[in-house]
Amino acid sequence: NLATSEGEILGLLYSKGIKPDGVQTLSNDIVKMVCKEYEVEVIDAASVKVEEMARKKEIFDEDDLDKLEDRPPVITIMGHVDHGKTTLLDHIRKTKVAASEAGGITQGIGAYKVQVPIDSKPQICVFLDTPGHEAFGAMRARGARVTDIAIIVVAADDGIRPQTNEAIAHAKAAGVPIVIAINKVDKDGANPDRVMQELSTIGLMPEDWGGDVPMVKISALKGENIDDLLETVMLVAELQELKANPQRNAKGTVIEAGLDKSKGPVATFIVQNGTLKGGHVVVCGEAYGKVRALFDDKGKRVDEAGPSIPVQVIGLNNVPFAGDEFEVVGSLDIAREKAEERAESLRSERLSAKAGDGKITLSSFASAVSGGTGLDLHQLNIILKVDLQGSIEAVRQALQVLPQDNVTLKFLLQATGDVSSSDVDLAVASKAIIFGFNVRTPGSVKSYAENKGVEIRLYKVIYDLIDDVRNAMEGLLESVE
Ligand code: GDP
Repeated sequence: NLATSEGEILGLLYSKGIKPDGVQTLSNDIVKMVCKEYEVEVIDAASVKVEEMARKKEIFDEDDLDKLEDRPPVITIMGHVDHGKTTLLDHIRKTKVAASEAGGITQGIGAYKVQVPIDSKPQICVFLDTPGHEAFGAMRARGARVTDIAIIVVAADDGIRPQTNEAIAHAKAAGVPIVIAINKVDKDGANPDRVMQELSTIGLMPEDWGGDVPMVKISALKGENIDDLLETVMLVAELQELKANPQRNAKGTVIEAGLDKSKGPVATFIVQNGTLKGGHVVVCGEAYGKVRALFDDKGKRVDEAGPSIPVQVIGLNNVPFAGDEFEVVGSLDIAREKAEERAESLRSERLSAKAGDGKITLSSFASAVSGGTGLDLHQLNIILKVDLQGSIEAVRQALQVLPQDNVTLKFLLQATGDVSSSDVDLAVASKAIIFGFNVRTPGSVKSYAENKGVEIRLYKVIYDLIDDVRNAMEGLLESVE
């Protein structure tokens, strides 16, 4: 949505020598040109659709398509430290978990079900219990996509901070719809309008102002307007048409795992398709086993878990990793075989990441552009970390004015601060290169990036950075390196 009038756009078109004749539809190129003029990002509906279908295909088989039923949304809360993520999660858990059973809330399993009355009918949604984009990014770097909707908490007395930007970047890169919770509206100095203003300048236009991002003013501490927030989330979920086929063998993702003194390896699964039952044989990552028992989010034993429902599973031979996929298979022999195959393929992935295969570097990008690798690359994904807020715009603008006829630049994240492991996760999941200007990379992050095959390029002189990017875009980088 453009925050401008039709007349203004017509004026712009005339000034470019284009004369639209009233009701005619604008061609893609013209729409792109207009959007560029207003600095609005164009998202090609067709490409989003294809991505969406590809994602669904990973979860669904042909046979599922006529048995799909609605499933609850899975929600992650993200935002800057101290903006109130934990307070919000705690409030929701205390007040919204089915009252009859809430009695003694046991130790969490990493996610919980919440009931939201919509038209006085209780509907379920599921909250992941680990707030923050770090967990979200780490899961995505492992290829997992569990979250359907991200609630991004922004404190009304503080506004957008670096981790707010990071959280938004992670949600956007994953294509997960965002609902903004403007928190702490009870505080002196709270200024929700300023927060909305700030968000609108980074491309998140509030629904109240004609945009498409729902924003709800809340006080997590006092529990004000939380119902509104949950209803908004459910509305967004409805538009997503979240579906699964409960009548098949389960598959999904591990969201948490560990070793329990009495139970042995325990893992919390979120079922994404099908229904998981006791006695099923599962393989997850490099672990496998027969499900000995299932526990729900209140620690109660259950017989089964359907789509979107988190359950704790015991019976695995080993502790899997958060982000591992699981699936039900026919027998323990098959499970063992699959687990071994998986271990083997992970070993070779690690080796090839070390050897640099499949790694996106600026020079491999440059040779792809110059046609050297047969790859067709039109977009360079950039994560930009700088020392000072003021440098962000300086560097970004200097890059943005480079001619983008053949290759466009896409900024996934621009933020202040040293390069972090969650930046690396974002780079892995989105095939991006990290550029640092006057920042450092801590040793642990450096080795993490090497393991993951992510390139981090650090600069102290802005012109060097710009030259390298320009040369890469023109397919010339290798000759200057
Ligand atoms: P997190 O780091 O994002 O998880 O933030 P916390 O939930 O730990 O909250 C940080 C601080 O802000 C705590 O002292 C909270 O009590 C306080 N806080 C959270 N929400 C609100 C709110 O709505 N109003 C006020 N006044 N304080 C809040």
